[in-house]
Amino acid sequence: MEIKNRIVKVGNLSIGGGKILPQSMCNTHTSDVDATLRQCLALSEAGSALVRITVPGPREVESVKEIKRRLLAEGCDVPLVADIHFSSETAIAVAPFVEKVRINPGNFNRDHAEACRQFSTLAGVCRENGTAIRIGLNHGSLGERITSLYGNTPLAMAEAAMEWIRLAVDNDFFDIVVSLKASNTVVMVEAYRLLAAKMAEYGHVFPLHVGVTEAGNGDSGRIKSCVGISALLSEGIGDTVRVSLTEDPVNEIPVADYLCRRYSSGSQLESSLSAVKVEGRSIRATYHAPSRERLLMELSCDFGKRLLDKEIDDISFDGDYAGADGRRVEIDKSLSDYLADELLQACRRRFYRPEYIACPGCGRTMYDLQGAFETVKKRTAHLKNTVIAVMGCVVNGPGEMADADWGYVGEGAHKVSIYHGRTPVLRHVPDTEAIDRLVELIQESNAADN
Ligand code: SF4
Repeated sequence: MEIKNRIVKVGNLSIGGGKILPQSMCNTHTSDVDATLRQCLALSEAGSALVRITVPGPREVESVKEIKRRLLAEGCDVPLVADIHFSSETAIAVAPFVEKVRINPGNFNRDHAEACRQFSTLAGVCRENGTAIRIGLNHGSLGERITSLYGNTPLAMAEAAMEWIRLAVDNDFFDIVVSLKASNTVVMVEAYRLLAAKMAEYGHVFPLHVGVTEAGNGDSGRIKSCVGISALLSEGIGDTVRVSLTEDPVNEIPVADYLCRRYSSGSQLESSLSAVKVEGRSIRATYHAPSRERLLMELSCDFGKRLLDKEIDDISFDGDYAGADGRRVEIDKSLSDYLADELLQACRRRFYRPEYIACPGCGRTMYDLQGAFETVKKRTAHLKNTVIAVMGCVVNGPGEMADADWGYVGEGAHKVSIYHGRTPVLRHVPDTEAIDRLVELIQESNAADN
């Protein structure tokens, strides 16, 4: 059987074919046209090849049109991706004005036949307007129909994506990109590997957008993202990349750009890994790295996949890196131990601190997500064997936080809901008190278990 490797046009870009592209998403409210325009320009300037903006409902479609008009007036033709979560009407309304719409068609309607009908209508509108579609299915937001067949598993994610891919092909619509993100790197890598194999078997291989969703921030967010994304890119899986951080989205671009340059075909990026010693199932590596951030990205890419795939069990490293003033700084034992711990946790091989899930925030976030996440991390750092999620909104947060033990979920208007597993245990808590309540609940629960 002939396999068709699809290349998808998104505005002035071709997605697929070997060059991997970085992208990011605004965390502004789309109705705030000035702020969203500024962030689109900043992201494009930083190197984001596409910029995604949230379109919660039909009211924001006018804002999108104005943002597009003003971007073009500024000479910026960066393709815009409209992020739609539930409403096919909104997707259909905005499709003529953007280069791509990102949807989870399973969320269009509980009735699968009706969701299929709405997806086919959207595909027709996109065909007329030359708009691409990203089918974006996240672990934790799969519909009941699929999870009842396959469980909440990587296989379920891949099978769900294949259903929509087949429907697109049946509709003669081929401008699709697919993503299957998860916060858990093992789940995410397995889901994409399964999907890549299933598409090849089907004979239509569509470009994949890859990312670790809700990766958090700081070193751990970067390491987790690099581990999951690099494992796939090193196998030729992935065409666009998002490093999803609970920070200013501009901070995502240098990490995404490193991954894209390292794994694009014909890349000649030099590594600062200078020696590797294998002792049983442990690795000792030596780096002469150009910067601390580059060191942790290289480390994650060089050894993350081997840890994820359980080819090795442990890692240590030494060498030096360039400090902020350009002088060489020796990698001391505390830095080596800390980064090794972070890498092992990102690969889910050893948990030395709580596991955090935090969304990057978007136009639906109505509170200081970044500040709250930092405080939650400080107040819970002593806990072990606990997964804590900090999410921007109640619309998608509870579904997206997947297997978290505890959830801190923004409701808007300075109120927060606290979840234990999938159950909301406190609602409408003022955000000035919510972190205290969360910590108390975790302590009470741990005391009851002991
Ligand atoms: S969970 Fe976070 S990123 Fe997802 S829609 Fe809500 S605020 Fe936006």
